[in-house]
Amino acid sequence: MKRYRVDPDSKVDLDDWDAEETSAYDGDKDDGEDWLDELTDELEVLQELLYAEHKHKVLVVLQAMDTGGKDGVIRHVFEGVNPVGVRVASFKVPTPIELDHDYLWRVHQQTPGRGEIVIFNRSHYEDVLVVRVHELVSEEVWKKRYDQINEFERTLAEEGTLILKFFLHITKKEQKERLEARLEDPTKQWKFAVGDLDERKLWPQYQKAYEDVLSRTSTKWAPWYVVPSNRKWYRNLVIATIMVEALKKLKMEYPKPKDDLTGIVIE
Ligand code: ADP
Repeated sequence: MKRYRVDPDSKVDLDDWDAEETSAYDGDKDDGEDWLDELTDELEVLQELLYAEHKHKVLVVLQAMDTGGKDGVIRHVFEGVNPVGVRVASFKVPTPIELDHDYLWRVHQQTPGRGEIVIFNRSHYEDVLVVRVHELVSEEVWKKRYDQINEFERTLAEEGTLILKFFLHITKKEQKERLEARLEDPTKQWKFAVGDLDERKLWPQYQKAYEDVLSRTSTKWAPWYVVPSNRKWYRNLVIATIMVEALKKLKMEYPKPKDDLTGIVIE
């Protein structure tokens, strides 16, 4: 999975990253679904352990262009986990109160506690993406945010948070097909917002903004992964694999029983 990790201080050109490829798994959609079942079983056990051990905190950041598949990842990759220890935090247009504070204020409140996995559905990165593209603050302000974000994430990491950031990479053509599918399917029309078409017109500006995010904020303590996401099954597999590998590396252990259990007989 290393091939998808952005090296710190590298310069990312998204044209060099193939959104279509499926090379880490030699199979098709059906195989992919079987493999995903195995991985989600593993994830379920690891999450139980994380919760029981009550030591590490896990933050998963999901960012994508519209229709990129954030909701699909949440549904398919995390389907087996125990909701007691997993939470999704969605970041929408900031409220007036949120706008009265610094941009990290609302984010920090949602970060995971010990034993918890929190999935950020959008994140503080919107403050250097949509905010930059729509010029909601001046360049002087957003330019400083890359370093600020790196320092913020460094603090979280040093305080025991495992941070994994995923950019779900799709092509403009794939987005067109997904938007058309939404238009045609009555069960998906609720997801269609006419405003998404205006955002689509800004595709090059967003890609540039994403390239800067990936180039400036992939760090040793909070790496970015560019996930080929044109194929949904492959996208899910890549993320599940990276999650399982990262959680295994924590070498977690079940806590020792609080009491001496030797010789106990239940009548
Ligand atoms: P999603 O597309 O994630 O399923 P929505 O359709 O509700 O959810 O979109 C959320 C919207 O909030 C997006 O258009 C996103 O750009 C916007 N948003 C999120 N964070 C910010 C921010 N800090 N400033 C301005 N807009 C934001």
